[in-house]
Amino acid sequence: MLKDRFERIHDYLRISLTDRCNLRCSYCMPYDLPRGFYAHSVKMTAAEVEHIAAAFVGQGVKKIRLTGGEPLLRKDAGEILERLSAYPVELALTTNGVFIDEYLTRLQKSGLRSINVSLDSLRRERFFSITGRDAFDRVFGNIRLLLNEKFHVKVNVVVIRGENDDELLDFVRWTKEAPVHIRFIEFMPFSGNAWDSSKVVTHRQILDALASEFHCERTETHANDTAKPYRISGHAGTFAVISTMSEPFCSGCNRMRITTDGKMKNCLFSRDETDLLTPLRRGEDIVPLIRECLEAKKEKLGGQFEGLTGSTVASEIINRSMVQIGG
Ligand code: SAM
Ligand code: SF4
Repeated sequence: MLKDRFERIHDYLRISLTDRCNLRCSYCMPYDLPRGFYAHSVKMTAAEVEHIAAAFVGQGVKKIRLTGGEPLLRKDAGEILERLSAYPVELALTTNGVFIDEYLTRLQKSGLRSINVSLDSLRRERFFSITGRDAFDRVFGNIRLLLNEKFHVKVNVVVIRGENDDELLDFVRWTKEAPVHIRFIEFMPFSGNAWDSSKVVTHRQILDALASEFHCERTETHANDTAKPYRISGHAGTFAVISTMSEPFCSGCNRMRITTDGKMKNCLFSRDETDLLTPLRRGEDIVPLIRECLEAKKEKLGGQFEGLTGSTVASEIINRSMVQIGG
């Protein structure tokens, strides 16, 4: 079992398969972000992803989410899904949704039933301006495809003031007929993403905006949930708010991360990383390194800022960009 100094049991691993992406979401991968992609030689191969995952499963991990960059950009994403489906874990995926149609059969075969698709606008033109790609129709069509195939679909919406906060009601109206689960995410600060506290639309503000049309009923939260869930009577779908900035949920955190170059991060906002891939390639046991990394986990937000209560300056937070971490 993996437990940190604050008695938090860690049984959820998020693995980033790549730092590349076919979209260019302004808040995640800004055009002016100084960066280069990792060379293939420093990235985990499919077999290495499996070896690292197996070490975590051996220590009690019960859920693995594949993310990125865009995980389905990797040509061997299907092979990785197949390899991981042999383990006794719940498999999950976070994707921008563009390639879902090409992967549908592999996704079904892997036994994966829950997929998070990112979609920040229901307007084609705005989707284009946020992501830099005219792919709204494909993503929206793929969400419909997943729903038809009875996947549990969560739609991630990063809410940014002045960019898409006028669409909150539209997203919730969509849940009337469609069994989609919208997750409004408070905008978070990462290297180079021009974060500013004035752009954050908080959990409270989201609820206030929705109250003009809906009676939103809070539903039960489970111990490790990051999202505050709500339902509306008569709606096929639900919505939730991920309140990282206004109401951090670190006390129930059970998450660990592996970047595509095989570094372990004990928190989304951790400054330090532990290289697992190099020792793995040398044939060493990585379990002591995993434990050591977890031991160093800070109580809250990587020990780097205080959410919205302190004066957070994004440029002072030492971290990778979100596309390099794996959201
Ligand atoms: N490419 C995939 C996708 O877009 O779903 C997976 C990787 S992406 C980094 C994972 C999630 O992080 C997405 O839902 C994205 O919207 C979210 N994200 C990225 N940058 C963020 C930020 N600054 N604040 C909040 N959420 C962010
Ligand atoms: Fe790509 Fe996902 Fe980041 Fe958008 S949020 S740039 S789709 S990794």
